[in-house]
Amino acid sequence: MKTLHSQSSILNSAVATMLAATASMAATAWRPEVDFAKAPVYVATNATVPEVEAARLIMRAQAMVAGREDPLTNAVPAVATNFPKAGIVVGWQGTALVAPLAKKLGLVDWYEAEPKCQDTIVQKVVGKTLVVAGNSPQGAYWSVGDLLYRNGARFLHNGGDGEEGTFLEYMTGLKAPRDWRYQPEALIRTGFQDRCRKSKLKGAEKDAELIAKNQFAARNGGDAVGPLTGGRARESIGSESIQPPVNEFKKHPDWFPLIDGKRWRPAPGTGWEWVVEGCWVNDEFTQWVVDNNESWYVRKGGRDNVAIIDITNSDGGRRCQCPDCVKLRASYPDESSCYFDYQTKIALRVKERHPEMRIETLAYIMSRSYPKAGNKVLRGIEAIDYCPYSRCFIHPYSDKGCPTNKSDLDRMAEWKKADLPIGDFDYMFDVFNPPMGLPVWELTADIVDYWKDYNKPHRMPRMYSEAAVEGGCGSRSRIAAYVFARKLWDASQSADEHLRDWCRVGFGEGAEPMLAFLRAEAAAWTNQPVHLTACFNNPLGTAKTFMTDALVAQGSNAFAKAESLLFAAAKGASPRDTARIRKQQAALAFERKVFEEWVALRAKALATSMEIALESGEPDEKGFARMKKYPMSTRYPSWQGNDVTDSFAQFYRTQDALRIRVTSNDKLFKAQEWRERRGEDGQFDWGCKAGTMEIFLQSPGQSGYRHFAVTAEGALYDALAMDAKAFDSADWKVDSVQRDGFWQLTLTLPWGVLGINGAPKAGDVFHAVVINNAHKVNEKSGEVATFAVGVPFPAYHDIGIGASLVIDDFGGRRPE
Ligand SMILES: [Zn+2]
Ligand SMILES: [Zn+2]
Repeated sequence: MKTLHSQSSILNSAVATMLAATASMAATAWRPEVDFAKAPVYVATNATVPEVEAARLIMRAQAMVAGREDPLTNAVPAVATNFPKAGIVVGWQGTALVAPLAKKLGLVDWYEAEPKCQDTIVQKVVGKTLVVAGNSPQGAYWSVGDLLYRNGARFLHNGGDGEEGTFLEYMTGLKAPRDWRYQPEALIRTGFQDRCRKSKLKGAEKDAELIAKNQFAARNGGDAVGPLTGGRARESIGSESIQPPVNEFKKHPDWFPLIDGKRWRPAPGTGWEWVVEGCWVNDEFTQWVVDNNESWYVRKGGRDNVAIIDITNSDGGRRCQCPDCVKLRASYPDESSCYFDYQTKIALRVKERHPEMRIETLAYIMSRSYPKAGNKVLRGIEAIDYCPYSRCFIHPYSDKGCPTNKSDLDRMAEWKKADLPIGDFDYMFDVFNPPMGLPVWELTADIVDYWKDYNKPHRMPRMYSEAAVEGGCGSRSRIAAYVFARKLWDASQSADEHLRDWCRVGFGEGAEPMLAFLRAEAAAWTNQPVHLTACFNNPLGTAKTFMTDALVAQGSNAFAKAESLLFAAAKGASPRDTARIRKQQAALAFERKVFEEWVALRAKALATSMEIALESGEPDEKGFARMKKYPMSTRYPSWQGNDVTDSFAQFYRTQDALRIRVTSNDKLFKAQEWRERRGEDGQFDWGCKAGTMEIFLQSPGQSGYRHFAVTAEGALYDALAMDAKAFDSADWKVDSVQRDGFWQLTLTLPWGVLGINGAPKAGDVFHAVVINNAHKVNEKSGEVATFAVGVPFPAYHDIGIGASLVIDDFGGRRPE
């Protein structure tokens, strides 16, 4: 049974958005009135990199409109000391040419803008001069991007691939409105800065340019006040600033967490050595954090440069176990209250010296829930970014029918009480490792619509999808990343309108078959009979559930058709059309490569999928005694081949129940005191501990899955997808056998607990991922770490990859 999740809710929200947009745009429509196709372009003497690049982009567009063959001109704009009598002026309010006009243009400093940090762009005709401006250097660039977009130019690719995504060919003129002032839907915090810290400036520059052309809100990079931002930061890099400096461990061990009786820092060389919590009761540490945030703010130029400071804790570092920290945490009604109270303490202390400073933080890990202590622990904080890491990547974000999304939606609804702008730190483009192309333009558009509505009366603060631009799945998901960018700038158009536009421009004469295929692909994605959450999943399971036979056939035909249409169009084409078609062929080839990666992965998934006959047996030890042992393995190639855990799983069924056992010969395991307890939400620290067993299990005919976990101490957890509250059953049983160096957990899951009436029938198939969270020794440092093995291999919440447990036709027992 397939559940078609809320196509209608997407449509409804699109209609509502369009109606709202029609109402608000009637008053201030962008109307092309004056032609500037031949006008000279000027910048001020103190123009910054984004302004100069913006001016050059206009000059290239003009060359294209004039029919000059090479629009990749190296021409640079004229530098004007006085406001020119005629022409185009590109700049932001801080430059000499625009500053005298700033008030008239309605451009104000961030700190005077309402809401704070609001981006504004302006296109205004003053006499015979067109001013293309913004309230930041990047803003001037966005204003140019907006002007050219409305004249037909498209900047399709966010993959950092250089120029082939820039389509100026669709421009027939350069018309400007007499007076246009626009504020984007989301506060755009970046968009012209060195996003790629590791790459050479050249590549980063290109990447940043592509981001900026689409007015894209990407994550902040290394230096938010470098030359590519024109010296203006759109957000801070204070993230993870509430943690001790790891290189000062020897000097200040007491700033670091007490773990197992010792002050601790992660071993160097593990790749995550900076991730460490502080000891929050250590006043010296807290003072250091205050001083450190303040000095960063001052160093970056204070209020002139820094829109907002982002302060957060470590990304999942281990909490200090010193008696006073334990006591501190216990003194709050919940973990979140403790977290935000500490943040408030730091925020207020930094603001004692800089009252104008603005601070934001994350709702993440220990702070995901709205604090039970209420807004009194949210003082000094101007904005919060919610991290929806329970979200489902298959179903629309706003879809409450998806149990995975529901747990995030419920938490986000609680956050309304904060009455703060709530941003979104989304993971859509982090869903797979290795990265894959995602047909998720409808889903990314839904994210923008959801938060736009949510944030009323505030404006949308930072919105970004991790890895939407480069790296991650974003590099292969150009259409989805593009739609996300466009929607953040202007939410009035639907995802499908942008898709159609993309096909028209990106595939030219090949648009029609591609549009039909891409729509089918997006529908196939959302109709998968699974939910998928958590980041960096192995895409193998999804390759099976997403890439159906019909979709593979339709895709192959669509690409072949589009290729032949473009090939035909290229014959006898003008030089300008030849250049355009060449780019479209490259765009098509790229999409084909992305599609073929899925097809290849599907073949691999089908070849390696694991089928286990679910035999019937006696409801006691005799049952397990004759069942096959499935070795548990890791999916990390470097660890494959070594039998590091020597653990295995077994499966069978009785009249009444499914029985699953994990046996682990974990040499480092220390026997625990078993005390069975259930339903202690939040107490279940299963993610960090070795000696735990987890099962993800999908029953026949169901799209959801159940998650069971058991720790060596006897904590039992169950959830429907990620919703622990929706499923809290006392009817499943666990038997534990353990001693030093060995543990064994046996789960007995009655059919009723799995949502099955009576008993499963012959031919029914369960999907299961069984995981053993075990120990591993780091070869370099000698540190003991937790890692996982599983059947077929560890994949959290990714039921698509699950082994098929098949009720066979032999009454459960294979013929001898
Ligand atoms: Zn402590
Ligand atoms: Zn879902």
